[in-house]
Amino acid sequence: MARNQNCCSSCSSQLGEWVKGKVIGSGSFGTVRLAMNKASGSLFVVKSAESDAGIRALENEANVLRSLNSPYVVRCLGTRLLKRSKGEGTLDVFMEYMAGGSLSDVAEKFGGALDSGVIRLYTKEILHGLKYLHENGIAHCDLKCKNVLLGSNGDIKLADFGCSKRLLNDPKISNGESMHSWKSIGGTPLWMAPEVLRNEGLDFASDIWSLGCLVIEMATGRPPWNGLDVSNPMAAVLKIACGNEKPQLPTGFCLEGLDFLEKCLERNPERRWTAEELLNHPYISGKFSTSSWKECACSPSSVLDFRIHEEGYDSDDSQDEFPGRNPFSTRLSREKNRMVDNDFESSEDWITVRSI
Ligand code: ATP
Repeated sequence: MARNQNCCSSCSSQLGEWVKGKVIGSGSFGTVRLAMNKASGSLFVVKSAESDAGIRALENEANVLRSLNSPYVVRCLGTRLLKRSKGEGTLDVFMEYMAGGSLSDVAEKFGGALDSGVIRLYTKEILHGLKYLHENGIAHCDLKCKNVLLGSNGDIKLADFGCSKRLLNDPKISNGESMHSWKSIGGTPLWMAPEVLRNEGLDFASDIWSLGCLVIEMATGRPPWNGLDVSNPMAAVLKIACGNEKPQLPTGFCLEGLDFLEKCLERNPERRWTAEELLNHPYISGKFSTSSWKECACSPSSVLDFRIHEEGYDSDDSQDEFPGRNPFSTRLSREKNRMVDNDFESSEDWITVRSI
């Protein structure tokens, strides 16, 4: 049993007495447990971190979440820091409970890939969340199925803001530095935009690339870049960062959906569509006007064009080449200075470039 009176800082008194339940998720920073308010019986979650890097990321997440208020972003209910001896401690962040879990959990329960209509609905909700974040100067920086949560009513919320960055109203920007550099950027490489991997900086457009990867993930039940040889992680990252290719588009996806993905996976971030523009894309709005299709420079002009896309991008034969233990499936920035030490290949599951 846990009681909230042990808290040392910034604990939400509204939580009252509560009990800790089972672990319902875990990530590179720590664990996520179910918790119940003893007075009301209502459920919430406690995300906890103990390592220095974990606490820093969780603090960042709590600070960002506290500044946001949107139906498309998971709500932070409070924090507490439990201090132990010798500077050790645990940071707990209390958040609203999303009963469906992450979209990865949901997809797994439904056989891997999600239904096409559901993908469209979820994508629209995620776009609303991204539009809200970007309007408020926040880049999420780690968008993927594991970081999008489903409520019991089918509501979708963005979560896991441990890597997120405030791009507007950031003192660095007023000092003339418009982009964050590798020193502070985290994320999960397979979902990361080429310009971020090339260390050219981070912008809201980087989240849009990751959204394209997330849609592919929902449609295929696999991480993006299916078929990419990940046995040499550095070579694979270089290919994503500096090559001309894009992640394979899903087979059997509708034409508007493929065009939507083209708009997200535009290698030039300046030409990539914004969240607001994508909310008006026919795939999301359901409005198909001839003129809007003509305006889409990259849109295929006929079904034959999409055959070319499919032949160019889709190769389900290679599905089995994707290893179960995907070295890109964890974040880029969690362990200390591995890339600096040229220790890139020694980590089995991680590709760590810089610490946060
Ligand atoms: P990583 O760093 O590996 O991305 P993390 O340590 O930041 O993970 P989260 O991604 O926030 O942790 O959470 C891990 C998992 O816990 C999620 O994928 C989800 O299954 C579950 N989870 C997190 N927050 C909630 C919530 N509010 N409601 C329900 N489940 C949650």
